[in-house]
Amino acid sequence: MAPAVLKTVADVKDWTAGLRREGHRLALVPTMGFLHEGHLSLIREGRRRADVVAVSIFVNPTQFGPREDLSRYPRDYEGDVAKCISAGAQVIFAPAGPEVMYPQGYQTYVEVTDVSQGLCGARRPGHFRGVATVVTKLLTLFRPEVALFGEKDYQQLQVIRALNQDLHLGADIVGMPTVREPDGLAMSSRNAYLSPEERQRALALSRGLKAAQALLREGTRESEPLVAAVRRELEAAGLREDYVELVDAERLTPLASVAPGQPARLLVAAFSGTTRLIDNMQLGGEENAGRV
Ligand code: AMP
Repeated sequence: MAPAVLKTVADVKDWTAGLRREGHRLALVPTMGFLHEGHLSLIREGRRRADVVAVSIFVNPTQFGPREDLSRYPRDYEGDVAKCISAGAQVIFAPAGPEVMYPQGYQTYVEVTDVSQGLCGARRPGHFRGVATVVTKLLTLFRPEVALFGEKDYQQLQVIRALNQDLHLGADIVGMPTVREPDGLAMSSRNAYLSPEERQRALALSRGLKAAQALLREGTRESEPLVAAVRRELEAAGLREDYVELVDAERLTPLASVAPGQPARLLVAAFSGTTRLIDNMQLGGEENAGRV
């Protein structure tokens, strides 16, 4: 199948109709572009789980707050197309502008009530409403058998699992491990904003999470010292904390401690300079989860 670029909703409908006629199995990888190895790991896994992979590249305005970085979000359309193809995607959906997804008079939004509430949901009002809306639109347009997302955006992954289940969208939602730079920094399009010094200081997020994992392995189960281990690294690096929280890995409700056999997740958001970075790791639960 020759690589194709879809620009409009009508293009997607035509293309998916042909795909269904030919009996293909489709994987969808939604992104905001400026692709890195984290995105490409989703595309490659998509190829293992389906015979056709579509990547959407759309900087979704509804998930940005009024004082956030929508206008300066990094873009590299030509580079992204080349990376998608080299990772095995056959189709790219790249709406020419926001009006393709949100035409004049648009008024329908999707809200996931519970798992959207704390963490990034509390700090970025409206963010997950925008994410849930665009992902619902993409899943209903493409009707993929599989859709792949990164654990890097862990709360987002839980929001998407919820809407897929609640709205009977029927996709197999696959969460993929966070891809990191060799020094531990979680890959992110927003890392492009960091000066060399800010990037160095940003290592405190993954270092703090790893310190907490080590504490847990030594037997510390209470939230307070685990959270404190992350805070120490943030403070030492001069980063401003947005939050550090230990939560149940599925419901994202706060935990006072990690119970044996109960998967918990430690999540952090912090500013290096003016750039807001997030990271998270599994604590407890599966033997090998959350390793860097
Ligand atoms: P974005 O373009 O930032 O909206 O991300 C698109 C998809 O790639 C989301 O499902 C992200 O969770 C995922 N992603 C972003 N960074 C990483 C990473 N470092 N490792 C794995 N997946 C990632």
